[in-house]
Amino acid sequence: MIPYGKQEINQQDIDAVIKVLQSDFLTQGPQVVLFEQALSIRCNAQYSVAVNSATSALHIACLALGVGKGDIVWTTPNTFVASANCALYCGASIDFVDIDADTYNLCPIQLEQKLIKAKKDNCLPKVVIPVHLAGQSCAMQEIHQLSLEYGFSIIEDASHAIGGYYRNQPIGNCLYSDITVFSFHPVKIITTAEGGVATTNNPTLASKMNLFRSHGITRDEKLMTEPSHGAWYYQQIDLGFNYRMTDLQAALGISQLQRLDEFVARRQQRAEYYNKALADLPLFLPKQLTETKSSWHLYIIQLDLHKIASSHQQIFNALREAGIGVNLHYIPVHMQPYYQALGFHLGNFPNSESYYSQAISIPLYPMLSQVEQNHIIDTLKKVLL
Ligand SMILES: *Cc1c(COP(=O)(O)O)cnc(C)c1O
Repeated sequence: MIPYGKQEINQQDIDAVIKVLQSDFLTQGPQVVLFEQALSIRCNAQYSVAVNSATSALHIACLALGVGKGDIVWTTPNTFVASANCALYCGASIDFVDIDADTYNLCPIQLEQKLIKAKKDNCLPKVVIPVHLAGQSCAMQEIHQLSLEYGFSIIEDASHAIGGYYRNQPIGNCLYSDITVFSFHPVKIITTAEGGVATTNNPTLASKMNLFRSHGITRDEKLMTEPSHGAWYYQQIDLGFNYRMTDLQAALGISQLQRLDEFVARRQQRAEYYNKALADLPLFLPKQLTETKSSWHLYIIQLDLHKIASSHQQIFNALREAGIGVNLHYIPVHMQPYYQALGFHLGNFPNSESYYSQAISIPLYPMLSQVEQNHIIDTLKKVLL
């Protein structure tokens, strides 16, 4: 089966991890700090806080922004559940803003309409979490402008988008947000097996996320309530977690980060090959805006079902039967049973639901060969026509 996404590990990656295994520190050593420095430079951000997953990064990002009971967080329904769960971890409530039908990203026009209504009803969100689906940035300038008008904070869920650009600036620089989160799960652009990071330009947020990542414990005397008792001393000044990244993971991340541009370029080449080969099929291909440069985490096609005899499910199954590991990103979060039990129902976010009824992610990753891509293209032609 050709998977929809796959990591690429080379000898340099393997050597980097082995070197850490033979060193004094498997965790809480120098590699995590070096990885954070490399990420800050690459993303043009002041601070990076590396953690054991993007899910953890989203959680501590919410906590650092003060999200708690009584607060409201908004995100897009067209995302992985983690983008919404992070608000619930903090005791806040969650709501969604429907997607733009062209980019499949959180729609800034619907965001504004929902904000106008929320202001009247006195239920404005504390934080909005736009998600850069497939690696293409959301309309961050517009969303940022609204944040100034309506007074909410912004966490970019850029789990798909390291290596991407928005208005010629690297995603992660937080020019239009408070915090940006990346995932290093193996299907994402670069990997540390499990892992994630939060970037920010705000020293207070960075310091808070540092605390939350490691039990709420500090060894920084400036943060303590009384003078240090001695060299052993630390204080727990908040309730944190163990969300730390290991040095093995960080070393892998440093090595992978060196090939980020190459990974994105090879993804883009393969996306362009699909663009040409699939242009005449009854499909909607991924529309790219001029102000964005995607990292191409996913290649999502939408079926033009009016022009196709088979159903969405039949085409999905036919592709799987041909050895093509297609997937679907995403089942709208509000359609999940857990979220339905919170009061959401079918019909709440029609663009996301309509997208879901016709979207398919076809394989895209740096090592995908031209023979494999041709097999995917030929199979699509066969099953669609
Ligand atoms: C993968 C992903 C996450 C979660 O990432 P983990 O590192 O697996 O916790 C969150 N949001 C989005 C949009 C993702 O794709």
